[in-house]
Amino acid sequence: MMSNQPENRDPQTPQAHNPPINSLKDLIEQVSGKNIILAADGDASAYAAPPVFPFLAIIGQNELKLALTLSTINPHIGGVLLIGPRGTGKTTAIRGLANILPLNEVSACYYGCLESDIENNGLDGVCPACAKKFGEGQPLTKKEQVQLIELPLNATLDNVIGGVDERHLLHNKMRLKRGVLASADKNILYIDEVNLLSNEIINAILDAAAAGHYTVRRGAISAKYNARFTLIGSMNPEEGNLRPQILDRFGLRLLIKGLSDPMQRYQAYTNSALFRQSPYQLIQQFQSETAIFSEEIQEAKQIFKTIKLPKETALYGINIIQSLGIDSLRADQTLLETAKAYAAADKRDLVTIEDIITIAPMVLRLRKSAFMEKYFSEQEKSEEIINQHIQKTDLDQ
Ligand SMILES: [Zn+2]
Repeated sequence: MMSNQPENRDPQTPQAHNPPINSLKDLIEQVSGKNIILAADGDASAYAAPPVFPFLAIIGQNELKLALTLSTINPHIGGVLLIGPRGTGKTTAIRGLANILPLNEVSACYYGCLESDIENNGLDGVCPACAKKFGEGQPLTKKEQVQLIELPLNATLDNVIGGVDERHLLHNKMRLKRGVLASADKNILYIDEVNLLSNEIINAILDAAAAGHYTVRRGAISAKYNARFTLIGSMNPEEGNLRPQILDRFGLRLLIKGLSDPMQRYQAYTNSALFRQSPYQLIQQFQSETAIFSEEIQEAKQIFKTIKLPKETALYGINIIQSLGIDSLRADQTLLETAKAYAAADKRDLVTIEDIITIAPMVLRLRKSAFMEKYFSEQEKSEEIINQHIQKTDLDQ
């Protein structure tokens, strides 16, 4: 059954239609469904790392791909929450994204020492070997692929923020061990089933994500770590809701449904069948677009630095939020920051009203609180009654 699927693709079929690809947006929307031309055999020896399903080979789910891309262009979007059942490609998309992001500077040391630790905590902020290296003017870092850090469900607060390092006796320094949050700096932190985490842990993560850094205190010692990560959470609503105050803190909210078009489902099936059978063939098919995508993200990040958001455009967005009765100021921040990232992804340095309209659904859905609405309307009624009584008492006197 399975073996005949990839061969069904006709190697003679020319690329049906090739609209011009000018931006990240075009790559996301147009590349995944392209015709695949099978080579005789994929050359596995050219790849050292285990194969990762190419981000751009994911069929459909354009909003998911767009949201993930935008969140890597602008960290101030404040994280992405993926809501949907299992088996809809959430994890595949996140792994694929990590794999195509531009390289990071990371620590070359067991303790994870960084130059920024010296800026934050002085020379005592790094291990003796790194302090020596720093003194000799050697770098403490190397270039590495962006990591996808997955938070284990049974993680403790000590795992997350860090604690006392049991190896500190080796170098006679009371050194704190870096937690998951510090390791996630400049990487992607993925929390599957975020609705099942304790309040204490999710608050620590969201605070660090919002600030871009955090401080750990253990007795007399403390250390500050950078934590500038892209936060992605996922939840299956069948397994419990996310508390509204936590939900509010995720910038983008995506409802991930299975594909509805049978042709798309068939393409998704053939791509994943090919990946199971011969992963490097699929990777090769998307290699050139993937390389362009990676460059485009870097370019978008550059454009983003000088992006302009006119006041009237911002007010247009704020009016939409107010007309929906959404109170949270986080909605304003996310809407405007996402629109900026979207313009940059489209290679423009000026945000337009169309940008706001395009990205508004993923920012605004699940923001309206039925509870708060009812609460406020009851309070308004009660306020009216109080005022009536005050006026009546005035007249009586
Ligand atoms: Zn070190």
